[in-house]
Amino acid sequence: MPRDTTRRKCGTGEALRIGVVGAGISGLTFAAAMRRLSPATNVELYERDESATSRRQGYSLGLKGDAGLTVKTLDLYDLLAKEAITITNFVICDQRGARLLELPATGRVKRLTQRVRRQSLRHTLLGAISDTPIHFGMAGTGYRQNSDAIEAQFMNRQSVRTDYLIACEGVASPIRQQVIGDAKRYLGLTAIVGDAPIKIEHSLLEGGYFMSLGDDGSSVFCYRETDSIHLSYTVHVAEDALRTHTPAALLRRLQQATQAWHAPIPAVAIGIDPSTVVARGYYDKEPTTRVRDGRVCLIGDAAHPMCPFQGQGANMAMVDGLKLAQLFADLVARPAEAELNAEALERDIVSRGRKAVLASRRAAKQFHATHRFSQRVRNAGFRFSNTVIKIVHNMSAV
Ligand SMILES: Cc1cc2nc3c(=O)[nH]c(=O)nc-3n(C[C@H](O)[C@H](O)[C@H](O)COP(=O)(O)OP(=O)(O)OC[C@H]3O[C@@H](n4cnc5c(N)ncnc54)[C@H](O)[C@@H]3O)c2cc1C
Repeated sequence: MPRDTTRRKCGTGEALRIGVVGAGISGLTFAAAMRRLSPATNVELYERDESATSRRQGYSLGLKGDAGLTVKTLDLYDLLAKEAITITNFVICDQRGARLLELPATGRVKRLTQRVRRQSLRHTLLGAISDTPIHFGMAGTGYRQNSDAIEAQFMNRQSVRTDYLIACEGVASPIRQQVIGDAKRYLGLTAIVGDAPIKIEHSLLEGGYFMSLGDDGSSVFCYRETDSIHLSYTVHVAEDALRTHTPAALLRRLQQATQAWHAPIPAVAIGIDPSTVVARGYYDKEPTTRVRDGRVCLIGDAAHPMCPFQGQGANMAMVDGLKLAQLFADLVARPAEAELNAEALERDIVSRGRKAVLASRRAAKQFHATHRFSQRVRNAGFRFSNTVIKIVHNMSAV
């Protein structure tokens, strides 16, 4: 593994320059943490989108444990809490509505999940870095590493010289492509996703989330937003099979496939606004053994792209962003001969990433099992876990 021998620049009187490619969850968390921990460091973000609002941010994110603590460390908890919904229960059932597993909130901070709109999280993080430059319309394509600087390269033929380069451009990261060169893996699953601007009272919508598992290996994931209900129908299809479908055709498929499922799914499906409908293929990559190339570092989905069936990607991205910023703050605070030694962090990102990628892949497979026998074994496992959880819950309530 290449060892980083770059000296920090602070001792020379020059501020360290850090270029961040991608202003998503990991890039913004890193920048917000740098703003707080090392405000003199020169951090600049380069984002492919034309503006902070040019793309619909869609779904909400469940933040738990360490991501919640990251938000607290950045002093953003109160701002975000205003819009967050605390998840009190996550129910998994079959397509007839028989409950297989209920995961109630335990009250332990580490296990508590807060659901926030992706848009709100980005907005809050952007608010925390109002004086950090963000260059929009800059799609990164790669980098060149010289002895004294890194040259980040962009689609518009511009290039930027920086001391460190942080790759935060998500699952299709061109920088990861250059560092590792691996292909993404299609998991055989695509979701048709939409929002229904309707009000429905149903016990399954009370706790926060429910997921229903279909006999044919499909699934429905559903939750209530403040002004709508979000529904995601995941189905086994060949890669790109739904790419050319219009939103109306996608919605028809979703409605037909789930019309005989338990309430409130058919009613939510009928209420979906076609203008919100998209198809989203699920991908990941094999866990990597390195996330650095000298002064180039991958974090977030660029380091560990995974499918969302464990709800861990954004949580990991935020933790990566904070930990990397702590390392840089430490570097800046140390004497002139100090150098960034990111080996321990690299091991940490690699090891957490490996666990999360594989757990998410296993969950995707388990939820979307197509063979009747596998489904029976899975459901029996869920029911057993449910009994154990209820006993433990009742005992702790006494
Ligand atoms: C449907 C769904 C539900 C999810 N639910 C959860 C959940 O409940 N909990 C959870 O923890 N995670 C969840 N995730 C995962 C989570 O969204 C990601 O893991 C997280 O957004 C990763 O953050 P990131 O900063 O690495 O990438 P992103 O947030 O994807 O940000 C990447 C940024 O880089 C920009 N970009 C892309 N390419 C370039 C380029 N070439 N040059 C410059 N900029 C570029 C993009 O425009 C974007 O702004 C979910 C994901 C999906 C798809």
